[in-house]
Amino acid sequence: MELRLDSSVQYVPRVGPSMAGKLKNLGINTVYDLLTYVPFRYDDFSVISKIAQLRPGETVTISGTLTFIKTFMTKNGKRLVMGRVSDATGSIDITWFNQQYLVKILKPGDIMSLSGKVDWFGQKIVLSSPVYEVLQAVGDNSASLHTGRLVPVYSETEGLSSKWLRGRIAYLLKHCLSYMSDRLPEETIIQERLMDMQEAIQTVHFPKDMQSAQRARERLIFEELFLLFMTSYGQKRLWQTTLQAPRLSFDSANISKFKHSLPFTLTNDQSTALDEIVTDIHKAIPMNRLLEGDVGAGKTVVAAGAMLAAHANGYSAVLMAPTQILAEQHHRTLQQILAAHDITVELITGGTKKKPLVTIASKPAIIVGTHAILTSDRIPKNIALIVIDEQQRFGVTQRAALRTLSHTKQIPHQLIMTATPIPRTLAQTVFGDLDLSILHTVPAGRMPVKTWVVPQQKRTSAYAWIDKELKKNTGRAFVICPLIDESESLTTVRAATSEYTRLRKHVFPERSIALLHGRMKSNEKTAVLAGFRNGTYDILVSTPVVEVGIDIPEATIIVIEAAERFGLSQLHQLRGRVGRGDKPSFCLLFTENESDDTQRRLKSLETVHNGPDLAELDLTLRGPGELLGTRQHGVSGLTLASLTDTHMISRVQKSVAQLTAKDPDLAAFPHLRGLVKRDTIEAVHA
Ligand code: ADP
Ligand code: MG
Repeated sequence: MELRLDSSVQYVPRVGPSMAGKLKNLGINTVYDLLTYVPFRYDDFSVISKIAQLRPGETVTISGTLTFIKTFMTKNGKRLVMGRVSDATGSIDITWFNQQYLVKILKPGDIMSLSGKVDWFGQKIVLSSPVYEVLQAVGDNSASLHTGRLVPVYSETEGLSSKWLRGRIAYLLKHCLSYMSDRLPEETIIQERLMDMQEAIQTVHFPKDMQSAQRARERLIFEELFLLFMTSYGQKRLWQTTLQAPRLSFDSANISKFKHSLPFTLTNDQSTALDEIVTDIHKAIPMNRLLEGDVGAGKTVVAAGAMLAAHANGYSAVLMAPTQILAEQHHRTLQQILAAHDITVELITGGTKKKPLVTIASKPAIIVGTHAILTSDRIPKNIALIVIDEQQRFGVTQRAALRTLSHTKQIPHQLIMTATPIPRTLAQTVFGDLDLSILHTVPAGRMPVKTWVVPQQKRTSAYAWIDKELKKNTGRAFVICPLIDESESLTTVRAATSEYTRLRKHVFPERSIALLHGRMKSNEKTAVLAGFRNGTYDILVSTPVVEVGIDIPEATIIVIEAAERFGLSQLHQLRGRVGRGDKPSFCLLFTENESDDTQRRLKSLETVHNGPDLAELDLTLRGPGELLGTRQHGVSGLTLASLTDTHMISRVQKSVAQLTAKDPDLAAFPHLRGLVKRDTIEAVHA
């Protein structure tokens, strides 16, 4: 049958259903997928060595005539195929283990090319288990796939070797490459001096030298990022041209009245962020903005300003928190902030769902809650603004559901707050369709949290120090137990529970200690936190994922067990639980891992106190997956491009910006338009 790019790989000659199943494990389903399966490195077998000059230890390619081949049994009972190959300068023995079939395939007189390692075999040198090819003529490697050239090495899977992949890809290059079309506009290709797509695919598999391999790769990376940014652009354009939101006006007099009602002065960044938001919501295009700020940077008050603006225009506003405890905390905070404006703030959580209706749809309301909001019947119909806190905790479906909260034709403006300090380049790459406001600084006057990496042998004295400190300061201490899985699991809870018991029985028998984890009932959690806040408990043993945003100014000490299991950004966020009051605060990182790398990584927290810097460091040390969480890394769907390649990213961004500035609706590029257009806005981050 005729192969096309979208044909299933099983129809490629010598593939079939069973091999197709294995290819599927590599994410390869179609001819296109296999053609674009890029090698992760190349073996340089391009130089053909003279047999007389071979030295043990070298990896070489030779070309010559097979003069002899036979199966032997070694002393310890292994079967061994032994052959001999000669060229004009001499001859060398070849050994292959466990490949008896070779005696059936290869015959004396065959002209061969072989690549592999020169090794000792007893007293003599041999070429051991080389890859080989039978050639038409001595030295003619022009048609070689596996030897005598830069040989592509692919990520393999059980039962699929690079050698086999090479053969199948070579077949497709011969028969299907011509179907491959360029998705990049010609002007971009010319301007950026990129290879055309067919040449890039051919070259990336079988390059003539490393330089052209590099250029081919660059072209594919460029395209991958280009399409990603185009998709973001398309989403943003769709959002801007098809959706409507209520226009909310909040003039400078209103803004300054709001600022004056606060017990503190907004930082410059907070002011700027609020201005950006106010400008956005004044338009009929729905705002879609990410408010990014280090822990303690004061995002909540910015959100409160925006919610006040909605209210002042006669609309309701909703703040969604990932957990009940955070919802309760936001409820308290917003009540305080908005009290001066005579606004009551309502709380909707799982626990309050069944209470009688209080909200009247006709009156504007400010509502704080958990995802229970989504199913609540107390939600008013006139929502103009939705604020989502700690968005990394929300799934795509929840966000989509949020948008449907609005019962009118218009959709609400949307503000997403995150404490994950995503570097700007990365944020623009992954959330290209969002606008970005960043709080770079924390409010002045806050003291950095003094941080120490505590080795195992100092544990006892650290406990004694904590005890003394708590006594002296009437402060509180968090003890965070290890993150065992990505999310909170039973094992994680168990670790916290046993630590809780151990600390109570053996370490701090005099202190009152409480336990907090995500598997507790929400009223229990609330009670524990209230007790911790008011001083009933002075030590709180907790799992790490419970409360990312918790604000307890009395807490001055945080101990993090098995600190090496966390990313620097996560540790920084955890550390942000303390240092919120006016007393000096401390973070003790416990680790039993004494390797240099771990110690160095953790010790960077002793000197670096700024979230974005730590995020950059994390990015280089552990990659974007760590920073964003695997799920969000997956969102980008990148296979070749690295989100850390800022040079390439800005190059592609520039080129996308140029193109879309000239032709905002991509009228001249129907194929791109098709690619970037999704039928629903809900797919934004799917
Ligand atoms: P986050 O950005 O981590 O969510 P919060 O909104 O919880 O931070 O704010 C942290 C603390 O800082 C709160 O107690 C808040 O009242 C206080 N705060 C916010 N902005 C300022 C400011 N400009 N000056 C002083 N304190 C502030
Ligand atoms: Mg917060």
